[in-house]
Amino acid sequence: MTSEKMLPPGSTIGILGGGQLGRMLATAAAELGFRCHVYRPDGESPAFDVVAARTTAAYENQSALAAFAGSVDVVTYEFENVPADTASFLAEQVDVLPSPHALAVSQDRLTEKELMQSLGIPVAPFAQVEDLASLEAALEALGRPSILKTRRFGYDGKGQVAIRAGDDVAAAWEAIGRRPAVLEGFVTFVREVSALVVRGRDGETSVYDTVENVHRNHILATSTVPAQLSSATTEAAREIAAKVASALDYVGLLAVEMFVVEEEGSERLIVNEIAPRVHNSGHWTQDGCIVSQFENHIRAIAGWPLGSTERHSNAVMTNLIGAEADDWAALAAEPGARLHLYGKAESRPGRKMGHVNRISPKVG
Ligand code: AMP
Repeated sequence: MTSEKMLPPGSTIGILGGGQLGRMLATAAAELGFRCHVYRPDGESPAFDVVAARTTAAYENQSALAAFAGSVDVVTYEFENVPADTASFLAEQVDVLPSPHALAVSQDRLTEKELMQSLGIPVAPFAQVEDLASLEAALEALGRPSILKTRRFGYDGKGQVAIRAGDDVAAAWEAIGRRPAVLEGFVTFVREVSALVVRGRDGETSVYDTVENVHRNHILATSTVPAQLSSATTEAAREIAAKVASALDYVGLLAVEMFVVEEEGSERLIVNEIAPRVHNSGHWTQDGCIVSQFENHIRAIAGWPLGSTERHSNAVMTNLIGAEADDWAALAAEPGARLHLYGKAESRPGRKMGHVNRISPKVG
């Protein structure tokens, strides 16, 4: 992209969704002189506190969407469950990045897995499930334990259930709401990692150092860099992320979550899922890298040159879930810790209230 096509400071970035990711995107955008306009159906929004303009309307409200599109210079999302039709409708009026196509592919676990397969990227064995009969057939093929996941609208372990020896199949089908699903073979992994890639409008691509993730109760608990990985696996993770971004002609930040499996002393990567947005496992980049995932997403969609993804420090990101954020005073006093709070009025169990990045000199 030539400099004339770069959005100049003072331009307005539209963000669909208004959670903490939107809040941190808007803060990063403000540092580059942009204004943000957040559109979200729910009036309570952590992002509303930090933006220049706000719309509270349903994702299906075409007149509100048209007014929103008319007030911004580019639209992006902080939430992948924005209806694909909403993104396509906006794209008739204004640039929507990443593209509605990239959003649609990654919203559906089946199309996502099919894309990986077409690129020769390993995924867990899986089968499409439409009803109880196809679930029983899939279970026969994949064995137990397996994990049943709805194709759409899953996050933080929602919309999925493990089927172990002795578990009732019909109960599992009920538990996910009898919705189109995929059954996945259980992967015995030694660790979970993610690779975050940013791709510009001109195809320039840069990948952050691979990060190691630990989940508790299906919610990300910590992300640590550097990940404990061989250099060959680290390189393989980077290549996978870059390949997916290029196949989707992606613009912005894309997260690729992977399992690391050890077989006969060697490591292998299996892609679990991709997220077409900035990602919780990239929050460490705010304090561990020269340019964070949030700023790089904004740079990419604004047509700016990408910022350096180089890591200057080791980092451990810990999510503050529910009442854990009540320790804010102690965390604020901790040397080497950077506290990030999302301004959510009410703390509920399982709710992400903030995170802390513990930074130390770079080793490894
Ligand atoms: P997901 O919603 O697909 O990201 O899954 C949430 C978490 O469940 C993952 O981060 C894993 O810890 C676990 N998980 C998901 N799929 C599998 C699988 N096929 N085998 C083993 N564990 C899984």
